[in-house]
Amino acid sequence: MVLYSLLNADVSRASGKSDVTDINYWSYPDYTRVVVTLSGKTDVAQRRLSNPDRLYFDIKNSAIRSELKATLPIGNGMLKSVRAAQFDENTVRVVLDLEKIRDYKIFKLEDPERVIIDVFGTPDRTAPSPKNLKKTIVIDPGHGGHDPGAVGPRKLYEKDVVLDIALKLRKILSRDPNLEVYLTRDEDVFVPLEKRTAIANSRNADLFVSIHANASPSRDAKGTETYFLNWTNDEEAMKVAARENQISLKKMRKMQREQDVLNVMLDDLKRDNKRDESMSLAHSVQETLAASLRKEYPFTVNHGVKWAPFYVLFGAQMPSVLVEVSFISNPLEEKLLSRDNYRNVLAKSIASGITKYMTVVPESQTVAHVRKALDHEN
Ligand SMILES: [Zn+2]
Repeated sequence: MVLYSLLNADVSRASGKSDVTDINYWSYPDYTRVVVTLSGKTDVAQRRLSNPDRLYFDIKNSAIRSELKATLPIGNGMLKSVRAAQFDENTVRVVLDLEKIRDYKIFKLEDPERVIIDVFGTPDRTAPSPKNLKKTIVIDPGHGGHDPGAVGPRKLYEKDVVLDIALKLRKILSRDPNLEVYLTRDEDVFVPLEKRTAIANSRNADLFVSIHANASPSRDAKGTETYFLNWTNDEEAMKVAARENQISLKKMRKMQREQDVLNVMLDDLKRDNKRDESMSLAHSVQETLAASLRKEYPFTVNHGVKWAPFYVLFGAQMPSVLVEVSFISNPLEEKLLSRDNYRNVLAKSIASGITKYMTVVPESQTVAHVRKALDHEN
């Protein structure tokens, strides 16, 4: 995985225009994620042209500084280059020169305003096949580095708790020779939200599980809940997502209303984000988690399965869930979360929820997997 940065300008303007402040990309063998960062809100129009094959994005009411008019050569078999330039007085045009791609997706995130472009290549069919019968799981411990996540009344950090749970989870799942398990981080480092699903997409993962600890202004709030990605009208779910996305509740509501700008609508969530499978996975994880906890900690509250627009799940191409393992803001649950034994129970029960989902649930997945393996053999 390689990260390049084309532009890194600290720009702020009084003109009311937004600036293109940065363009990054993460390049993997069959997959590239391009992230265009802006200083403010804008409208974006997209179009694909042929001869030569290219994709362009017009960012309205925006400016780019002269030294940023640059070409970023990529040459990874999918993209030749990314170019950004002032197209007319009010428009910055970002062009992706294409080589060979299967598909592309685009969506937006806020704070800072980002346009994310996912480009999918054609997998290498000559790759050795035995490995392809294995399932790949990507575990995502939330936060890290300068982002502590939620902080408990006794100063326990969410980032530390969830990292330890994720490491334990990896250890448990890795005992199964049919599973390949990866973490989005295995140490105390910051990983941007949009990079976490990029890692899962690049691994062609079968499942993505993000681990978090909950927080509430009410110290009494406690219990576990598991989310999948979907729009919501539920105020409490919206608050949890706003906190994890690090944007205001007001912006969350607005974002939900405006997502049609880039055609990221329910259909996309349903199809690309495997919404139905995500829902089953969420149920399997949450039920196992609640049942295991109840045995040892009878006061545990089961909030069940919920849904909300979590940035960290946007753009995931596989069944994906976010688990809130307990409330770090609750003094008792904070104390429990600091204990190795409690973390072990959480890791074990999430692991069995995942295993249960993979073994019991979808025949269609098994069939799809066999087909994938056959494709690779041919
Ligand atoms: Zn979190």
